[in-house]
Amino acid sequence: MNKIVSDERIQQRLSYFEDRCKQLGLRVTHQRKEIYRTVASSCEHPCAERVLQQVREKLPNVSLDTVYRTLASLEEMGLLRRVGLSVKEHFDGDLRPHGHFVCTQCGEIYDIFFKENESMELPACMNEVGQVRQTQVQFKGICKMCQSR
Ligand SMILES: [Zn+2]
Ligand SMILES: [Zn+2]
Repeated sequence: MNKIVSDERIQQRLSYFEDRCKQLGLRVTHQRKEIYRTVASSCEHPCAERVLQQVREKLPNVSLDTVYRTLASLEEMGLLRRVGLSVKEHFDGDLRPHGHFVCTQCGEIYDIFFKENESMELPACMNEVGQVRQTQVQFKGICKMCQSR
């Protein structure tokens, strides 16, 4: 499994981030950018605590509360998605259509890219409920690492 986000892709994501900020009239603050960069350059779907740890290496005064609020606003801006089990929120900077396999034992989140995810037909009754803006398939199970323990 590819566990590294290429520099090229990180740069693409960062410039998309800056475009979004401009569009929405938001300042590209150092803090907001570092928090975004941390998620956008990770394949690990980090939770807020993990993001905090990494951001603190560069910005030692950032609080967990700030990280939470910034992640929530980045999600509203359409730059991140929330994924994983509901007990603890994790964030994904990869906006390409993909699903997730979530290990119910260790909580690890694996990216699953599959054709059906993109061409999935929505049931007709969906129209009665509302308009779908995002589809996210999530599989739950026990990952190989946990199986071999
Ligand atoms: Zn596991
Ligand atoms: Zn993902």
